[in-house]
Amino acid sequence: MLPICNICAKTKVLCASCEAKLKNGEISDMDVKIAEMVYDFGKGEFGFEKAVDIGDFIVILTKKEYVGKIIGSGGENLRKIEESIGKQVKIMGASSAEEMIYTLISPANIVSTSKIYKADGGIMRKITVNKNDADKLKMDIYSIKKIVSNLLHTDVEIVMG
Ligand SMILES: [Zn+2]
Repeated sequence: MLPICNICAKTKVLCASCEAKLKNGEISDMDVKIAEMVYDFGKGEFGFEKAVDIGDFIVILTKKEYVGKIIGSGGENLRKIEESIGKQVKIMGASSAEEMIYTLISPANIVSTSKIYKADGGIMRKITVNKNDADKLKMDIYSIKKIVSNLLHTDVEIVMG
């Protein structure tokens, strides 16, 4: 899975659907650039969810089992990505919900996290972010929710409080 479809990553030409995602801000130019590279590294066999610019470096969020593949033998792939985008890159696998959530929300502060037990037996995580830190969020809450839900298959509610 990549932020753009495999055909777009392969041909390096965006289809109407990927173009629309780019236009409405759901994905960034950086997502597209990295998706094209990661596709080339793995011929579509591995991917990532999203690249997030967190200031001093870029975080590439992916499934835990893809981390080593994206980094590549001896860090070869990682170096190519860093050279291409001109920034240090960290590849982050979702090993725990907390780790992922903190990375996505940082440097805004989390006031509290709690688990809500739903009627169907599922668990929803509720995260309260300091309302004074709204402008520190690197992406909107909807995107954070989407990434966390996609990676962890957990329902997440993020509120400012
Ligand atoms: Zn596409």
